[in-house]
Amino acid sequence: MAVSPSIPPALTFSPKTSTDPSLFLSQTSDLFSRGRNLDLISLRSSLFGSGLKTLNRIGAPVLKSGHNRSKICANSAQVMEQSSRKVNTKVSTIVDVDLGNRSYPIYIGSGLLEEHDLLQRHVHGKKVLVVTNTTIAPLYLDKVINALTSGNSKVSVESVILPDGEKYKDMGTLMKVFDKAIESRLDRRCTFVALGGGVIGDMCGFAAAAFLRGVNFIQIPTTLMAQVDSSVGGKTGINHPLGKNMIGAFFQPQCVLIDTDTLNTLPDRELASGIAEVVKYGLIRDAEFFEWQEKNMQALLARDPSVLAYAIKRSCENKAEVVSLDEKESGLRATLNLGHTFGHAIETGFGYGQWLHGEAVAAGTVMAVDMSYRLGWIDDSIVKRALNILQEAKLPTAPPEMMTVEKFKASMAVDKKVADGLLRLILLKGPLGNCVFTGDYDRKALDETLHAFCKS
Ligand code: NAD
Repeated sequence: MAVSPSIPPALTFSPKTSTDPSLFLSQTSDLFSRGRNLDLISLRSSLFGSGLKTLNRIGAPVLKSGHNRSKICANSAQVMEQSSRKVNTKVSTIVDVDLGNRSYPIYIGSGLLEEHDLLQRHVHGKKVLVVTNTTIAPLYLDKVINALTSGNSKVSVESVILPDGEKYKDMGTLMKVFDKAIESRLDRRCTFVALGGGVIGDMCGFAAAAFLRGVNFIQIPTTLMAQVDSSVGGKTGINHPLGKNMIGAFFQPQCVLIDTDTLNTLPDRELASGIAEVVKYGLIRDAEFFEWQEKNMQALLARDPSVLAYAIKRSCENKAEVVSLDEKESGLRATLNLGHTFGHAIETGFGYGQWLHGEAVAAGTVMAVDMSYRLGWIDDSIVKRALNILQEAKLPTAPPEMMTVEKFKASMAVDKKVADGLLRLILLKGPLGNCVFTGDYDRKALDETLHAFCKS
């Protein structure tokens, strides 16, 4: 169903996307051969105006000492209520995700897992289930249990330790969480706690959304990827063998607690994977942040604490702002998926876990930028800068050799951004920091990009 051409493009928010894989598979050839006007959303500047941008841009390159609260689109009542709350000194920053009665804070700081009150104030009921994995449990589970129970004898904590890896982000593993919850007789007043990276966060969040039709949950992200992206915004879910993140729910946490000290144990490759999403914010909507990254990439890779803290804060601000404006991804939020359509195809085609999520996103970003250039939407300086920064972060900038044009097309056909048989993509357009989410592009450019990056 085409949107009437009389509707101004900036108002043609995408219709709800069908997620029936069989439907899309049967339409694969159509998808890549047609071009039509659908859902062009020229973002930020035309749709929301530049006023919002200034709300959320903080020029200081590093975190100042002391507490710094970043307010995103809040109403005054919330500001008053929140500012009167006792705020712990170790919390360097609080970014608020404003979603009406489902609003929540993102606490960012060093040593926050030792600040017991911070977690406890968000626990509902007397029973908590911590969901984590075999790598993270030995590192942080005791600390989290202590934070939940210290000085609070009323709370009892159960835990479930899942196998580690993207390939376990599936229905079978999810059932282990439900098994534990039911065996432990958790009721609707319980709280689930996600302790881990994006895989654990997505799975625990989905389990919380589904268990007894919804129980409270808290995100404690321990990878850079999860701290800058996946723990914020309430997208939860699991993979299907035919497509990534195909089964899930929008379900917001009570709070996100980011203890930046947890990054001390994160392997370098995982750190770089998270940087791919940091770069994304710069490219799609925050040119100033991109420029800051160009100057600070070496310090970021060297884990300079203040540089890391600033990258996390600014990323969370960007994500919180987008989520506050478009929680259920009817348009604007889709832009956070720059490079992800290509990237998800790599993850699915190559096999879950072969490449890290951020690695696939990095290669996918280069492909999306290449396509934007082929369309004549950006100049070559942006192509070079995107490539340079991802290379400096030691991320892949091309897909693995086994990815063929056909593999890309088969996987992209079941992407969640397909609407009415048309693949919509996030592409850069205009000066650095601007993008569009659109199905209105020349199919030839997509074909050319795929052939430029694939050997067959
Ligand atoms: P991950 O969860 O697999 O974690 C990466 C690895 O690091 C794992 O082996 C994990 O056990 C280990 N690890 C985690 N914290 C550690 C620590 N502090 N010290 C040592 N090791 C640690 O991967 P990820 O990159 O965090 O997340 C990727 C997942 O997130 C993907 O499934 C992706 O689809 C999802 N994601 C979701 C969203 C969203 O909005 N929901 C956004 C981006 C990504």
